[in-house]
Amino acid sequence: MLNIVLFGPPGAGKGTQSEKLIVKYSLTHLSTGDLFRKNISEGTELGLRAQQYMDEGNLVPDEVVIAMVEDKVKSTANTSGFIFDGFPRTVAQAEALDKLMVENGTPISLMLALSVDEDELLDRLLKRGKISERADDQDPEKIKNRFAVYRSETTPVADYYDTQGKLFNIVGSGTIDGIFADLTKTIDSNV
Ligand code: AMP
Repeated sequence: MLNIVLFGPPGAGKGTQSEKLIVKYSLTHLSTGDLFRKNISEGTELGLRAQQYMDEGNLVPDEVVIAMVEDKVKSTANTSGFIFDGFPRTVAQAEALDKLMVENGTPISLMLALSVDEDELLDRLLKRGKISERADDQDPEKIKNRFAVYRSETTPVADYYDTQGKLFNIVGSGTIDGIFADLTKTIDSNV
């Protein structure tokens, strides 16, 4: 099993690279943001609980996110592994994920952390907001709040995996194919 945490700030290219990685390695894509958006569009109770946090660019409470990920992992049979995209975003989530995957007999293999500077991220997100209609990608103030939340609550997650010797940093600016090549080289030489 190959279980990857794909890490990085909003707009770093996690979704784009996940789509390519799942094809190459036959993995299951688990994006917590996508799962929340699906629940919101279906009008589920989970979606209702998440919406306000997402609209403001704040994190959905850990227990809500963790329960959703547990459900998804436990209900996925016959996979070669997972790409966790946008999760974990807090150290509490990282600890819960470790526990879940160890219980499952399929621990996290490595974390790939994409880095892109904030000016480029802001530019990318505003462009995405124009085509995706994602409300949280349209307001520069909300985007900046997401960056602030990322810096304060999410960056410690990289240290968490670094302590386990599982952190690999990848430059996330450049061409999509160039970044993909760096990601696959890192995976192939470290698992
Ligand atoms: P994303 O699509 O990953 O940018 O996530 C969009 C929004 O969903 C975030 O701004 C959060 O409000 C919420 N969200 C997604 N993943 C998580 C997570 N792991 N923990 C808390 N909130 C999350």
